[in-house]
Amino acid sequence: MFVVDNVHKSFGRHVALAGVHLDTRVGRTTALIGPSGCGKSTLIRVLATLLSPDRGEVTFHGERYAAADLLAVRRRIGYAIQSGGLFPHLTAWANVELPARRAGWKRDRSRARIEQLAEMVHLTPDTLRRFPGELSGGQRQRVALMRALVLDPEALLLDEPLGALDPLIRADLQRELRELFDELGKTVVLVTHDLAEAAYLAPDDIVVLREGRIEQRGTFAELRHSPADEFVERFVEAQTARVRVLVEGGS
Ligand code: ADP
Ligand code: MG
Repeated sequence: MFVVDNVHKSFGRHVALAGVHLDTRVGRTTALIGPSGCGKSTLIRVLATLLSPDRGEVTFHGERYAAADLLAVRRRIGYAIQSGGLFPHLTAWANVELPARRAGWKRDRSRARIEQLAEMVHLTPDTLRRFPGELSGGQRQRVALMRALVLDPEALLLDEPLGALDPLIRADLQRELRELFDELGKTVVLVTHDLAEAAYLAPDDIVVLREGRIEQRGTFAELRHSPADEFVERFVEAQTARVRVLVEGGS
C-alpha cells in the first residue's frame, strides 16, 4: 500500500525524518507512536502528499509520488488531524461535502454519501447543520472523520484523531473507531502518543519512532516482551498500566 523508502525530511537545520523505511499492509491498521517531536506528524504528512521528502521515495499502490499527479493521489487518501481542522465558517455538512464538491460530485450523490457517513459515526442531520464552533470536541472529531471518508478513500491517515478529547469521550470514540476500522477494512495509518490507544486500535502493527527514525516495529506483545533497546523498553514500561485498563477492560 504505502511504501516509504529511505525518507529524509528537514526543516532548516532541524531533522524531522532521518531515513525512514516503512511498508503498510492493505486493509490493516498501523499506529505510529513516539515522544513529541519524533517525526510522527511529518511522516504522516509525507504519506498524505502534503510534504515532499528531501531524499528518498514514497509510493502508494505502486505509484511514485515524485512522478504522480498528487491531487489524484490525495483523493484516494483520507486525512484528518487532531481537533479536526474544520473550516470554522462552513457548517459541518459543508465541511464534509467540500472534497466531494472539489471532485465534481453532483449534489444528490454527496447527500446520499453524507447521510450514510452520518449514520456510521452516529451524528444526526441536525448536528451537521451547525458550525464547528457549535459542536463538542467529540462531534468535531466525528465530522472530521466523515470528511476524511467522504470520497471513500482506499487509505485513511489520522494524526492524533482523539488527542484533543477528554478521557471519557475519548474512550467512547476509541471503541467506535475500532469498530469502524473493522467494518470498513481500509488501510489505516494513525498517529498517537498514547501506547494504550495504539495497542487498542493497532495491536498487530505498532511503529515506534524516535528522533526521526523507526526504533522498532511489532505487535504490542513484541514491544512489551522483546523491546529492541532500552528506549523502547522504557517507553513501553511507562505506559503499560494504562494499556491494561483500555485493552483488557474495553474489549
Ligand atoms: P511529532 O508529530 O512526532 O510530535 P513532528 O513531525 O511534528 O513531530 O515534528 C518533528 C520535528 O520537526 C520537531 O522537532 C518539529 O519541531 C520539527 N518540525 C515539524 N514541522 C516543522 C515545520 N513546518 N517547520 C519547522 N520545524 C518543524
Ligand atoms: Mg504530531
